[in-house]
Amino acid sequence: MNLFSGLEKIVKTDFRLAKSTWYGLGGPADYFIRPPTTEQLQEVVRRCNENNIKMFVLGYGSNLLIGDKGVRGAVIKLEGDQLSQINFEAEHVTAWAGAELSRLVLTCVEKALSGTEVLTGIPGSIGGAVKMNAGGSFGDIGGVVESVTVMDSQGNVFEKSKPELMFDYRRTNITGKFILNARLNLTEADPEQIMRTVKEVWIHKKNSQPLNTKNSGCIFKNPRGVSAGALIDRAGLKGLKIGAAAVSEKHANFIIAQKGCKSRDVMRLIDAVTERVKEKFDIELELEIEIWK
Ligand SMILES: Cc1cc2nc3c(=O)[nH]c(=O)nc-3n(C[C@H](O)[C@H](O)[C@H](O)COP(=O)(O)OP(=O)(O)OC[C@H]3O[C@@H](n4cnc5c(N)ncnc54)[C@H](O)[C@@H]3O)c2cc1C
Repeated sequence: MNLFSGLEKIVKTDFRLAKSTWYGLGGPADYFIRPPTTEQLQEVVRRCNENNIKMFVLGYGSNLLIGDKGVRGAVIKLEGDQLSQINFEAEHVTAWAGAELSRLVLTCVEKALSGTEVLTGIPGSIGGAVKMNAGGSFGDIGGVVESVTVMDSQGNVFEKSKPELMFDYRRTNITGKFILNARLNLTEADPEQIMRTVKEVWIHKKNSQPLNTKNSGCIFKNPRGVSAGALIDRAGLKGLKIGAAAVSEKHANFIIAQKGCKSRDVMRLIDAVTERVKEKFDIELELEIEIWK
């Protein structure tokens, strides 16, 4: 019996997830589902619940490490015209989960709206960015989000607005399973000034991150008041390698997947780094990336 009969167009089985992540690593998902509308997402959620299938939400896979054996359940990715819209209304923009963050940033520059340029150079979708409260030293997305529309794991859709909505360092209090869209409150500004900030942030990233490598951004969160990268560097771990995973020489909080790398290489290196930092500084590093295994 086909659990997803009638939805064959949007459901793939035994789908290799590696190509859907920035690391390019990871085994297959039992089901890989790309609903193009909220209604189809609700139907997918209903079928998963009826059949006790665990649901995972995937954005652009830029903050994820997926195990070599893949995931048992349904990996659901929001994309398509409806779920990737970006709609402007004066100084407000409603950005849907599947839209690419870089498209949002550049469209805001064109529209002379300031607030998202601090997110320049962060890969990912709006859904992933809101979930992670993506950002950095220039600011984060939570600074401009005024409300989000969410679907819970039963398919109910609801809205959550500030001040009920809370954003903190790489986390939010959004508990609903699927972020459908976010409404942002931006400010009118001179497009040339916004573009100058875009360039400044981009140059900072280019100089500090190992771009053009397979990675997943920062592996660990910064412990309070100290940079995880600096701790890893001071522990002498730059360049440390396990299998084909290596701690970046350019930014010690990045782990690069070199040719032939397996997810288990990255996981073993994460454990080794965590252990050495704990030994040397008595500080327990906490993961920023998410691991699905
Ligand atoms: C080169 C590089 C540089 C980076 N630099 C930064 C940086 O400067 N600052 C920063 O904050 N991050 C950075 N990151 C990490 C990453 O880009 C962000 O965390 C990004 O927001 C993840 O978005 P995504 O769509 O790829 O999410 P994914 O990696 O696909 O998912 C991340 C999490 O979000 C959840 N999720 C995704 N979409 C939804 C949705 N619609 N509803 C509910 N949950 C969802 C997933 O289940 C998962 O828990 C970097 C990554 C790379 C590879």
